[in-house]
Amino acid sequence: MKKQFHRKTLNKAVLSLLLCLSVTVTACGVGGDKGSGQTQEEQIESQAAASAGQSDGTQNAEQAADQSTEAQKVSEKDDYYQAVNGALIDSWEIEPDKSSKSWFGILNDQVEERMAELIKSVSEETDLEQGSDESNIRALYLTGLDQTGRNEGGFGESLSAFFDQVDAAESIDQLMRVSMQFCRDYGIYSLFGISIGSDYEDSSVKTLVANAGDPGLSKEIWFSEDEANQKAVSLFEELLRKLCVIQGYSETEAEEVTDNTVQIMKSLAEKSLSQSEFYDPEKTYNVYTVSELEELFGGKISSEMIQEIYGVNGEDPVIVSEVELARQMASFLTEENLPMLKGYVKLCAHRDLGAYMDMDSYDALNTYNMEASGMEESRPFEEVLISDVQGLLGFQCGRMYCEQNYSEETTAEVKEIISQVISVFHQRIDELDWMSDATKAEAKNKLGKIDVRVGHPDDWPQDKYELNLKAPEDGGLYIDNFLMMAKVATDYNFATIDEPVDKSLWPDTPQTVNAYYDPQSNSINILAGILQAPFYDPDASVEENLGGIGTVIGHEITHAFDTNGALFDEKGNLRDWWTAQDKEQFQALADQVISYYDGMDIEGKKINGEQTVTENIADLGGVSCITEIADSQGYDLKKVYEAYANIWASKEREEYLSRQVAIDIHSPAQIRVNAVLSAQQEFRDLYDIEEGDGMYQEEMPGIW
Ligand SMILES: [Zn+2]
Repeated sequence: MKKQFHRKTLNKAVLSLLLCLSVTVTACGVGGDKGSGQTQEEQIESQAAASAGQSDGTQNAEQAADQSTEAQKVSEKDDYYQAVNGALIDSWEIEPDKSSKSWFGILNDQVEERMAELIKSVSEETDLEQGSDESNIRALYLTGLDQTGRNEGGFGESLSAFFDQVDAAESIDQLMRVSMQFCRDYGIYSLFGISIGSDYEDSSVKTLVANAGDPGLSKEIWFSEDEANQKAVSLFEELLRKLCVIQGYSETEAEEVTDNTVQIMKSLAEKSLSQSEFYDPEKTYNVYTVSELEELFGGKISSEMIQEIYGVNGEDPVIVSEVELARQMASFLTEENLPMLKGYVKLCAHRDLGAYMDMDSYDALNTYNMEASGMEESRPFEEVLISDVQGLLGFQCGRMYCEQNYSEETTAEVKEIISQVISVFHQRIDELDWMSDATKAEAKNKLGKIDVRVGHPDDWPQDKYELNLKAPEDGGLYIDNFLMMAKVATDYNFATIDEPVDKSLWPDTPQTVNAYYDPQSNSINILAGILQAPFYDPDASVEENLGGIGTVIGHEITHAFDTNGALFDEKGNLRDWWTAQDKEQFQALADQVISYYDGMDIEGKKINGEQTVTENIADLGGVSCITEIADSQGYDLKKVYEAYANIWASKEREEYLSRQVAIDIHSPAQIRVNAVLSAQQEFRDLYDIEEGDGMYQEEMPGIW
């Protein structure tokens, strides 16, 4: 099942600085509605990135290098990443309950520690106004904390009712009806469901998006030849068996239900899109009408039923982002398969919602998360709970966080850096020798219209609807509160379907330690969470901020012109604004970037140049742009590059790295530093890099 109201599951089109690589199946399921882009649902309920690391002070690369004299000194000419970060990384230890350590993880932990204080202090108050941010945070936290209540409540009212209806279904038609209704109510699907997104060709208009089939894991993991990924697959199958037993099946039945579910999931995964295809509108923007869905699903889904349940019309357009996956799901919808499908539907829901239910389900999921990501210990219960609460009530917690921890002056200061980057980018477009004036005019128009968002939104999604979560003393249960949030979000989406897309809402929460470009709103979003040292510090040198947040800003702006961003115009609409010849040149340059990275590997794991191309273009463009600013202003370029290398310092467990290389569209940290700098002529000159040096690359690809 997919929680359609979660951004992380959904919004493949938003290009962030780094992906959430948690194996937490409940938060980061693979697949979903990649073709629809940003939806209102995502904006209302957003899951914060669960990243790794733990706060242990503010030691930076330089300090660590000074302290660690015995650390082996690697030459800057051979491995710049290691030369700058080696001592720091050596001083880092990955905590037993983490799968990696990086500045992103460390800052994320700091955010969560502050959030824990806020949440705990709110939960001690007694006379909060019903429906306020504080009252909802308190209710969700206390019901989550109430383990006795969770064990007694089991699956909760709404989910138990759904399971009973699934068990009682006597035909595929009946099973489809209860599944579709559950998706309409809570935005969660496995067989089939409809959600709301914004249209690719007119990003101001909301459109229906049809999703079918939950493959459980992504195909890159199901069919990976990497040992750590294969281990993750067996652990996933083990998890499904445990959940079956919790549902009341005998060991033998559990085996059978799991085998059947795995068979369905793997066969769906085979037909699902690859990670790079998710970002290709040619693959995902498939427009049908509601009536035509019936034929797409081989007559197994009734258009009338869809119209009745979702309150839509037969001629309404609907985007099907994964057509082959939908057909594959449809092929299972036979009366003969009914018992098998019932098991699959319940198992998908249990896998998705188990973390919010009884403690046996929670433990099963937690153990899976720990083992699949190579952690030695599972994260403490209360820490996971804080993470979940601040993810599930992301904007409620975000508003509280920003009031206490974010200085509004930061917004003005960072906007100043952004306008400097944009103005240099303008100039660089002017100087391109491969682009015609006509396309340059379009590119500059798009650049000039980028919506710059810094810190937190002015409008908060929770002010647009009513939510009243119940605390334990009022009979509240964690799982029911969770589903109530989902219901309110889904109802709001369907109630406002005829209204234009509200671009004042942001897809991600302000406390998230990340930044992203959203092609459908042509916006860069530099969130409050990342506006901390070492990325940004008002007291740091101009070089440190330029190498830190400056390169992040350059990266996000370049996303407007990577192989995906370049398909969208200044309004965020899918429109070809290129001359045919310029487009050909652009593609040829992108191919050079693909082959440049394709030759690289990390610990024997090969980089997929195609899968990582959009991010690599953004990395290359961002650093080129910042190099030019440093050059023109007479800044110390060495310090800029050192700061750039420092922000990417990272240490990973093998399981994490295997998963990253298999499914992440970003290159691993070491490559983000070395490959990018090796392609800069100024870097080569600065460090006298020559053939034979590790940092020497024959090709030096660059587009922007
Ligand atoms: Zn990016």
